[in-house]
Parts: sequence; structure tokens; C-alpha cells
Amino acid sequence: MRRRFAGDRLVMASHNPGKLAELREFLAPFGVSVVSAGDLGLPEPVEDGDSFVANALIKAHASARGAKLPALADDSGLCVDALGGAPGIHSARWAGPGKDFGVAMARVEAELAATGAAAPERRGGHFVSVLALAWPDGHAETVEGRIDGTLVWPPRGTGGFGYDPMFLPTGESETFGEMAAARKNRLSHRARAFVRLVDACFR
Ligand code: IMP
Repeated sequence: MRRRFAGDRLVMASHNPGKLAELREFLAPFGVSVVSAGDLGLPEPVEDGDSFVANALIKAHASARGAKLPALADDSGLCVDALGGAPGIHSARWAGPGKDFGVAMARVEAELAATGAAAPERRGGHFVSVLALAWPDGHAETVEGRIDGTLVWPPRGTGGFGYDPMFLPTGESETFGEMAAARKNRLSHRARAFVRLVDACFR
């Protein structure tokens, strides 16, 4: 049995501005007032889990405990088929301490090139988002969303964040970096996870 979210305040357990903007947009129709972990001065916990679910739970529990409010966390990443699912849970780390996703995308491209993956059908990958909603009493719910696509080079577009300019969703002509934010927010792994969260906890 899923626990329903019955409050009117939520902490967003993220310090990533791109994710925060998307999650705020998803939550807007629900009349929930949203504050971020950064606004509350909560520290970023060490994400030492071995899966998206484990890391989403680490972040959600840390913020729920710290703020004494329900907390929503996203753990997400890009999984490239020819790289055995890398960078996966290490997607943020590939950008280095400067959080430079030009560097991270160049690494994806270099590793793809090293495997000889030149044809589009050998450049498949997907984004995953796990959303965790945790309460201060330690209860949590998790849901997952995914979108499949192809990794293009060079990157295209300046919208979105992270690996967006390199990710061409299946069936689309624009990368996540090129398309309007409203379109990405209908298609994305995070949007798909959010639909499941609404079904599970907000209806
Ligand atoms: P984490 O969930 O904080 O470990 O970070 C996830 C990382 O995955 C982000 O920093 C991005 O690099 C990447 N990522 C997750 N979702 C997206 C997305 O929607 N677009 C582009 N990159 C993403």
C-alpha cells in the first residue's frame, strides 16, 4: 500500500538547478509549496549507494530528517549501452569538480569512439530517473522513469542541462538540448517518473 502525500509543504532534496527547475514545474499544479535543500542550508549527503534507488533514498531521507518535512529526491543518469550502462549512477561525477558537462559529453564520445561505435544503432542509451519521496518518520516511496535514445556528436543545442545536447530521444528530430523545455518535460525520464509518483502518492 502506497502512502499518500497529504501535506502542503515539500523539500526538494537537490542542489542541481536544472533538476530543481523541472521538478518545480511538475509540482506547480498541485498547490504544494516547495523549498529546496539548498535554501534551507541542508548539506548534500554522500551518495554512496550502488543504484539509482539507493542514492535517491539517501538524498530524500537526509532532507526529510534535516527539514522535518516530506522530501522529494531525484537520482538520475545517462546509461550508454555500448559502455555497459556507464556513466549511470556516476553521471554527475564524469563532469569533474568543475561540473563541466562539455567534459562529460566528450568523455562519453571518446569512450564510444574507442569501442568503434560509429553507427547510430550502436550509440543507443537511455536516461533513468528514480524519484524518492521520504517522510520524517522514515517511510519512503520510490518510482522510476526511463527514456530511450541515441547519443549524437557533436552536441546540439544549448537548452536543458547535463548531457541534454547529446541525447536524441527515439522518434524525435531534436535533442533534449534543442527542444523547448515544455517538450522535454513531457517526454523525459523525470516526467515519466513524476507521472508514476502522482499516481502512487498524489491522487
Ligand atoms: P545525480 O542524480 O545528482 O547523481 O546527478 C545526475 C546526473 O545525471 C546529472 O548531473 C546529469 O549529468 C545527468 N542527468 C540526469 N538527468 C538528466 C537530464 O534530464 N538531462 C541531462 N542530464 C541528466
